[in-house]
Amino acid sequence: MIIGNKRIQELRESLRGRLFLPGEEDYDGARQVFNGMINKKPALIVRCAGVADVITAVRFARETDMRVAVRGGGHNVAGNAVCDDGLVIDLSEMKSVRVDPENRTARGGGGATWGDFDHETQAFGLATTGGIVPTTGIAGLTLGGGFGFLNRKYGLSCDNLLSADVVTADGRFLKASADENEDLFWGIRGGGGNFGVVTSLEYRVHPVGPVLGGEIVYPLDQAKEVLRFYRDWSTTAPDEVRADATLLSGPHGPALAIMVCYCGAIGEGERVLQPLRSFGSPMVDTVAPVPYATVQNLLTEVFRPGLLHYWKAGLFHSFSDEAIETIVDFFAGAVPAPFAAVAIEHLGGAVSRVGPQDTAFSHRGAQHSVLVLRMWQDPVETEENIDWGRRCYRAAAPFLEEGVYVNYLGDEGEARARAAYGINYERLVKLKNKYDPTNFFRLNQNIKPAPESPTPAFQTQS
Ligand SMILES: Cc1cc2nc3c(=O)[nH]c(=O)nc-3n(C[C@H](O)[C@H](O)[C@H](O)COP(=O)(O)OP(=O)(O)OC[C@H]3O[C@@H](n4cnc5c(N)ncnc54)[C@H](O)[C@@H]3O)c2cc1C
Repeated sequence: MIIGNKRIQELRESLRGRLFLPGEEDYDGARQVFNGMINKKPALIVRCAGVADVITAVRFARETDMRVAVRGGGHNVAGNAVCDDGLVIDLSEMKSVRVDPENRTARGGGGATWGDFDHETQAFGLATTGGIVPTTGIAGLTLGGGFGFLNRKYGLSCDNLLSADVVTADGRFLKASADENEDLFWGIRGGGGNFGVVTSLEYRVHPVGPVLGGEIVYPLDQAKEVLRFYRDWSTTAPDEVRADATLLSGPHGPALAIMVCYCGAIGEGERVLQPLRSFGSPMVDTVAPVPYATVQNLLTEVFRPGLLHYWKAGLFHSFSDEAIETIVDFFAGAVPAPFAAVAIEHLGGAVSRVGPQDTAFSHRGAQHSVLVLRMWQDPVETEENIDWGRRCYRAAAPFLEEGVYVNYLGDEGEARARAAYGINYERLVKLKNKYDPTNFFRLNQNIKPAPESPTPAFQTQS
């Protein structure tokens, strides 16, 4: 459908937020996302000022039959927060965070980042599990699950979600919680952006900080023995600690870095971390009592927006000696230019005490996640860097489950998206049939409505 100028003008006038069209000032900035590989050119970008704008944008897209992308923090490497030709519902201005210190809850807008969220909650000494790079959006991260330094103590971000406001494909405004629209509440805790635009998210927050945090860095030639120790130690470590082990090629050469956050009492943390800190001969050990914000910012400089990214992820089914041998040999045999990493993230603890079907996030048994990550600046290097990422992932693949964390997926096709939803896929399809039978929200790791689905509860407007 060709949309006339009059219709666009009506849209502009009905918004409190801003509308960006190709060729207009700031359009190019508005279409950029975190991953510099993504270069999509939407026909319209609606930067919503509030829920009313979101409802207007959803209705406009339905009436004009436009493809829709939803943008929270714009961090997802797959780049689904933007689209070619269609309409982007951009929530990046909806980022206010309100903390209720008495009831230990906090509510953030659908475009808030973890930097926004932590800033407000830490003013009261509170926090919840959230992304470890502050520019990541709370919405996209939570809807897919949500790993973070506090996940072993307090569960995933989605496990701390108390309620969310959702604008559905038919423009309705629904609250999803344990008491209202419970099925939707189940689905948005792991089912991604498939069911609607989430305009705000309310979390349980916990007293956090100071924490014992920092990095222990080893030369690459100690990587195998340190990783063997790390595996055994991290598998039995108390819930208060999360320690991620990363093989990396950074500006100071290749190394193995273990990034640690202990969120319990500092004295006890010193005792818990002592075996890890005294193993091998680290080059660097920065672990010390620090504000929670310090560990949440350890990677801020590394992950600057606009760099080009290639990611490939999995979950260990066998973190064996052989797995360590294979992955380290691959890495050491072909150390790439900065920045490349194989990050082993620490799950288990409270994450695995929630049942695989209690929320839409099903991968509750995994103790460690694996993320192969390649990041570069010059587009000329794209092919060789993607090739390295693919080869590295292939080396690790025999030790990984079929399942994968949905938020770490690139544009990897239907089978991988299904693997991400795992045993919950069929139930998610039923939910999709109910809340989005026409697949209006399809620019995501998509759950397709089933063809035999009953007649939708609402009709598409032409
Ligand atoms: C540098 C970096 C660090 C990361 N660190 C972590 C980490 O520590 N832990 C972790 O678990 N993950 C992490 N991730 C992955 C992250 O969870 C995903 O990229 C996530 O999708 C980011 O959310 P966003 O809102 O920023 O993304 P966007 O790109 O804006 O959105 C991604 C998708 O989420 C959906 N979505 C976003 N906002 C909304 C909304 N308000 N309503 C409905 N749907 C919405 C849409 O389908 C959209 O396509 C990291 C990613 C990067 C690039």
